[in-house]
Amino acid sequence: MPEKSLDQIPLTYLKGIGPSLEKKFALLQIFNLRDLLFHLPHRYEDRTKIHSIDKIELGEHVLLRGKIVSNSIQFGRRRSLVCSITDNTGVISLRFFHFSGGQKTALASEKYVQCYGEVRRGRSGLEIYHPEYKIVDGPDAPLTEDSLTPIYPTTEGMQQSRLRYFINQALEISDSSEDIQDLLPLEIASKFNLCGLITALQIVHHPPCDSPLHWTSDKFNSGQKRLAFEELLAHQLCMRKSRSNLQEKTAPALRSNNRLINLFLKHLPFKLTAGQQLAFQEISADLNNKVPMLRLLQGDVGSGKTVISALASLHAIDSGFQVAFMAPTEILAEQHFESFMQWFSHLGIKVGWLSGKLKGASRAQQLKNLASGDCQMIIGTHALFQDDVEYKSLGLIIIDEQHRFGVHQRLTLKDKARNTALSPHQLIMTATPIPRTLAMSAYADLDSSVIKELPLGRLPIDTAIVSNHRRGEVVKSIRKACAGGNQAYWVCTLIEESEALSIEAAEVTAEQLAKLLPDISIGLVHGRMKPEEKKSVMTNFREKLIQVLVATTVIEVGVDIPNANLMIIENPERLGLAQLHQLRGRVGRSDIQSYCILLYQPPLSKAAKERLSVMRDSTDGFYIAEKDLELRGAGQILGTQQTGLMSFKIAEIGRDAYLLDEVKESSELIFEHYPEVAESLIHRWLGERKNYASV
Ligand code: ADP
Ligand code: MG
Repeated sequence: MPEKSLDQIPLTYLKGIGPSLEKKFALLQIFNLRDLLFHLPHRYEDRTKIHSIDKIELGEHVLLRGKIVSNSIQFGRRRSLVCSITDNTGVISLRFFHFSGGQKTALASEKYVQCYGEVRRGRSGLEIYHPEYKIVDGPDAPLTEDSLTPIYPTTEGMQQSRLRYFINQALEISDSSEDIQDLLPLEIASKFNLCGLITALQIVHHPPCDSPLHWTSDKFNSGQKRLAFEELLAHQLCMRKSRSNLQEKTAPALRSNNRLINLFLKHLPFKLTAGQQLAFQEISADLNNKVPMLRLLQGDVGSGKTVISALASLHAIDSGFQVAFMAPTEILAEQHFESFMQWFSHLGIKVGWLSGKLKGASRAQQLKNLASGDCQMIIGTHALFQDDVEYKSLGLIIIDEQHRFGVHQRLTLKDKARNTALSPHQLIMTATPIPRTLAMSAYADLDSSVIKELPLGRLPIDTAIVSNHRRGEVVKSIRKACAGGNQAYWVCTLIEESEALSIEAAEVTAEQLAKLLPDISIGLVHGRMKPEEKKSVMTNFREKLIQVLVATTVIEVGVDIPNANLMIIENPERLGLAQLHQLRGRVGRSDIQSYCILLYQPPLSKAAKERLSVMRDSTDGFYIAEKDLELRGAGQILGTQQTGLMSFKIAEIGRDAYLLDEVKESSELIFEHYPEVAESLIHRWLGERKNYASV
């Protein structure tokens, strides 16, 4: 039995792991025995029951056993080894495109083979390509698997069977080790009915054989429940910690005299909605305080978040501090710049602009104005927070974000805040509402204000799902909209991640529309245009010199042209719900009726159909956000899947949402009564990644 604790024991301690495998494990972020134990399966396969060949269905994963009846090499487009087996109820072929001579000999007629794989339709009827297989003694050879087979996340060159072998070794060692400490205080475990940690690990790596296969998604899987609970708790604790770290810092207490705010409100052509007023009250209360604000402003598309950010800015400027406003894209930053110029310049406020593309003397001048405090409000992209940008007295940072970038941006900004003696306040605006469960987990370190209603008189957008076969009619509807004095967007969506292709599609569409609608002026905007070009197209559209704007998804967020009341989205089936909702939100911004046509390319997959129907049936961003989470999962929504930030080993926000209230309660208990446990829990589940939340 090892003396050291499991995270001190290198993988090479296990039978069969040498330096080269150790390197492969490193790719999976597994460095010691504890990491290995916490490398958890993401699904299971059932290899405890042999299927009968006559009962299997296409697409099923099955365990089969049968006698080999033929074995031959076929020459088609690709050479393959085909081996047919029968269990007396039917015949199925196993097909190998990569095979060796030895394999052909081993799979000789009359032998019995046991195999596992997915059933598909092949040249000879039902087939399994590259099954996992082994030769067995006969039809009655005993089955070796007596529990569901865990399938782990893995990397090239690391087969599941080897992973299982090593994890089993680790489990045996942990069995006799006191090291896998149950960190959860008994009070919490019993209150929320959680099993012990070792039991949980045993269950998850070796599910009982009578577990149903859907057991992974079953909340009554006690092992998984315990681990998911602990993991969510660790994330929650981490967020709380970063929050309390922030609260220990000092922000300037912005004591506004409201002079500018009152002037601004006097000139505003509309009255704030009740929701807007409430949100601003919450924000200004925070700004008055010397604890740094970290507040999320949520509201549906079109609910009027920009005005609130303007009021918050004025509050800071009224108090003698500077404001930095960051938008996720150049085009959106540009638009905010225009709005703020319009709103603020006659109030005598100097509004500046900074983007990555600003170079040379103009950039130098801008930096000078910021450092001297001459520029009170700066608007731009990430460029606002590059190292050489210095502020005289930055009091408030506003981030208008597409929430799929949420976590990353907070990371850079908190970083920036570190460089000044006083931490600025932060206001984060999300493009669309965040589902409650996500807000409770990914944004647990933020306070939140929600604008519940849209400005008075807004009509729900009328949305239709139309097949590309009816493109002609869609073009006619543009003519109708323009004849009434309104404008339209035609959006060409991203094709297979290729920006170049979608730009090409937009160019072609713009040409076609120009031919079909000779009396209507058509404009084009996309991400590869120069900033001046983009700007002039957007200005022309705003001034109605352009009636139809063909665009890529660059116009997704924030573009605000209330006279446009028709939007055509091409290939909407490629987009997620949040993005569609965001795009569609470019219309419906005044009291005229707006329309959205989802122009899809048939045939539609089942999932795409479901997404598009959600869009047709609802314009409620809060509802759509919940559906989005349900259909896509949290990682996709937060865009953190690739980076590993905020990704869970075992918890799944959607499935485990029911745990979140209890997790929150537990995190409060731990902070109050068991503070010493917090750090260890965070370390166990987040390891080095915890840095992302504590910068
Ligand atoms: P979003 O919340 O999507 O960022 P915007 O701030 O762009 O929304 O506001 C959408 C549109 O509604 C803008 O044209 C804005 O001027 C207008 N608006 C904002 N608040 C009100 C209000 N209280 N009454 C009427 N129109 C408003
Ligand atoms: Mg906006």
